[in-house]
Amino acid sequence: MADTSRTIAQALAAVDAEIADACREAGRARADVTLIAVSKTFGAEAIEAAIAAGQRVFGENRVQETKGKWPALREKHAGLELHLIGPLQSNKAKEAVALFDAIHSVDRTSLCEALAKEIARQGRRPLLFVEINTGAEEQKAGVLPEQADAFLAQCRDTYGLEIAGLMCIPPLDQAPAPHFALTAKIAARNGLKLLSMGMSADFATAIQFGATHVRVGSAIFGARH
Ligand SMILES: *Cc1c(COP(=O)(O)O)cnc(C)c1O
Repeated sequence: MADTSRTIAQALAAVDAEIADACREAGRARADVTLIAVSKTFGAEAIEAAIAAGQRVFGENRVQETKGKWPALREKHAGLELHLIGPLQSNKAKEAVALFDAIHSVDRTSLCEALAKEIARQGRRPLLFVEINTGAEEQKAGVLPEQADAFLAQCRDTYGLEIAGLMCIPPLDQAPAPHFALTAKIAARNGLKLLSMGMSADFATAIQFGATHVRVGSAIFGARH
């Protein structure tokens, strides 16, 4: 356990230093970039090590896994912030609104409707990101770039949802920069301030293109099994 804790603390410090470097190079303030430590598949011991090292913002991709792992951690540690970064089924909107402080995967009207209902009912307001499928990949979630403006208008006008920003996951086999640039452009023309982009392999590039939230898993916790 001591070894795991030390490794995670060191990895976090290295990622943090790389974020600081990228901010400096981009002429941005370090405080404008939030590191989301993606703890999916990792247990409480690894998460405790990150918390002990000062990390407070975490990302998970499944409602079910989060329900099992996080209530106890939340009870033990004040000030934790939990982000849902994976796809969300409409029938899990109720649990997602209750569990998460941010949802990065808003991408269809049925989900908007379910989220709007739960936000009103629970009086909780998670930060909402619309996911953009910048590579127009068939198997991937997200709104197509050419449909983004209309979808964002619908979120606001039809469902009364306040969208804070955009999220993207570039195709694995392509350079990420054009996808980050496209996402930033769509956000800018729609007046959205937050950009969730960049993972272990490319968060420094994402910061160059304006990322405000980087989602980093394996660079902190190690390879997932
Ligand atoms: C797993 C995951 C990440 C983290 O990926 P790493 O390459 O391990 O940093 C980021 N974003 C999403 C949406 C993920 O599912």
